[in-house]
Amino acid sequence: MKKFFIYFFTFLFICFILPALLTKSEMNALSETSQEENKQADEEVIEPYTYNQYGTIKLLHTDTNEVEEVPLDMYLCHVVSAEMPVDFETEALKAQAIVARTYTIYKIKNKKHDNADICDDSNCCQAWISKEDRLARWDGDKEAKWNKIETCVKETQGKIITYNNEPINAFFHSNSGGKTELPVDVWGGR
Ligand SMILES: [Zn+2]
Repeated sequence: MKKFFIYFFTFLFICFILPALLTKSEMNALSETSQEENKQADEEVIEPYTYNQYGTIKLLHTDTNEVEEVPLDMYLCHVVSAEMPVDFETEALKAQAIVARTYTIYKIKNKKHDNADICDDSNCCQAWISKEDRLARWDGDKEAKWNKIETCVKETQGKIITYNNEPINAFFHSNSGGKTELPVDVWGGR
């Protein structure tokens, strides 16, 4: 009888417990592999766009018709300070910087002007204000306010919004009047 139990448990071990143990360790190995693959995919997604390629932009000043070549992030400080009140939360200003950078890169790749990447007219391309004019319109510690804008732009350096690895046409508005509409119904295009 004792022998029978030994044979019986050996049989159980070989048929059920051993395969279960082997499968579990294989599954662990598999899930480790897929975690590794996911990690690699994440690393690929967060790779920044080729920043040096767009180190400077050609800005058209519509009042003088002059084209000025300026560092991209310096240009963005003038855009963000023109588009959003400096008293807004830093995260809001940073979001604005990312959207403005995305829109700018999109404009470089999809030119509207023959001799420039973008112009300073908000009705045509994107708002822009000179530092001199900006500081003249601010109260209080003007340099501290400008530094706040510069910090927000710098902290988002290299970040843009992409779809299929291309910058999106990043439209934004200051006030939607309570409603939004699909771009395809307003301008055409998706
Ligand atoms: Zn324009």
